Amino acid sequence: MNVLLIGSGGREHALAWKLAQSPRINTLYAAPGNPGIAAHATVADLNVSDHRAVIDFIRRQQIGLVVVGPEQPLVEGLADNIRTIGVPVFGPGREAAKLEGSKGFTKDLCARVGIPTARYFRVTSKDGALACLEDFAEGDQLRCVIKADGLAAGKGVVVAMTRAEAEDAVAALFNGGPAEAVIEEFLEGEEASLFVLSDGTSTASFGSAQDHKRVGDGDTGPNTGGMGAYSPAAVLTPELEERALGEIVRPTIDALTAAGTPYVGVLYAGLMLTADGPKLIEYNVRFGDPECQVLMARFDGDLLETLLAVAEGRLADLPAPAFSDNVALTVVMAAQGYPGTPQVGGAIGGIDAAEAGGALVFQAGTRMAGDALVAAGGRVLAVTATGGDVAAAQRRAYAAVDAIDFPTGFCRRDIGWRAIG
Ligand code: ATP
Repeated sequence: MNVLLIGSGGREHALAWKLAQSPRINTLYAAPGNPGIAAHATVADLNVSDHRAVIDFIRRQQIGLVVVGPEQPLVEGLADNIRTIGVPVFGPGREAAKLEGSKGFTKDLCARVGIPTARYFRVTSKDGALACLEDFAEGDQLRCVIKADGLAAGKGVVVAMTRAEAEDAVAALFNGGPAEAVIEEFLEGEEASLFVLSDGTSTASFGSAQDHKRVGDGDTGPNTGGMGAYSPAAVLTPELEERALGEIVRPTIDALTAAGTPYVGVLYAGLMLTADGPKLIEYNVRFGDPECQVLMARFDGDLLETLLAVAEGRLADLPAPAFSDNVALTVVMAAQGYPGTPQVGGAIGGIDAAEAGGALVFQAGTRMAGDALVAAGGRVLAVTATGGDVAAAQRRAYAAVDAIDFPTGFCRRDIGWRAIG
């Protein structure tokens, strides 16, 4: 079967690596792709925001499955448009993708069906927002979280620990004119990510992970797209996972099916494990990046077969997805300056040496400059290794990082610290 993979990040490199191992693959195409993906796939010169061009390509290359990696094309309705020509797509349609595209949509759905999540208000004016803040005051203290409504690549959220921070965040939000936001209760606990496959009718758990959003060691500095991750997240015990599936994920999927907009793809639930049990922080409508890299390093099945079964509504016919008992851990190497303006163009060497030790080096923001591989974006490599426990996986991942020659890059040195102590 010919498969088209949409995307160009480390997540898609990991998906391409795994899809290419399927005995059922004929040609794997990727658009826009990157040099790492090009080792496993034919990179197609295709503008993925031009849906008509994508559909022409699918017809021409006789594509039997489309796998959409990132959220943007899903929110823009690419999956719906492809489904109109009868080709199976792994990824939700525009309406179900609102779970990520609109925080207000998700909060209202949670309220309607009783899903545990932070208490919230939707606001559309500065005065309205300032008035809501009072609801989160406890004596002199005020803690809350202010979230811009649309896709903001992780930059639309302010966790305010004082009244002044909350007021500043509200002012910044409405500075540029009209805006929509959610203001919600601050939840205490440890975070974990749960991944669930859904074909609109059946669901299957697809593993857990914990990511590291802040740029600096010890979870300091600004938020990023993710500086590292490991899987599984031991804090999400089988009991807590079962509660999260039963109380959060399945009711969400059932609500979308009942609304006539079934969820087809992977649903990523960002959870806070509070003293009262798991609560939903956010949904993403695709694999996480870099969580996908650690999930793929542990997944034991045929990815093409699995994603096709999801896209064709046959998930119930498959055995439950199986994962290695090993821990996988990935360290993101980013270009200096990230998450501000990254220094692009820096040479990258040593990938073969890193992989010779058994690690997997997934590429994100890279490009070829002649024969040389150079940095082309903020997050550049995801250096991934497995081991019997988090400490062993961490040792192997950092040994691989140290084999890489990327003078204009940097990484956190503490990925996995919560699990190691
Ligand atoms: P991303 O795109 O980076 O996944 P996002 O912009 O969609 O993130 P959220 O995941 O909702 O935003 O929030 C980002 C981070 O803010 C969370 O990972 C969590 O650390 C923190 N956060 C969000 N909501 C809450 C909450 N109610 N209580 C405590 N912390 C929160």
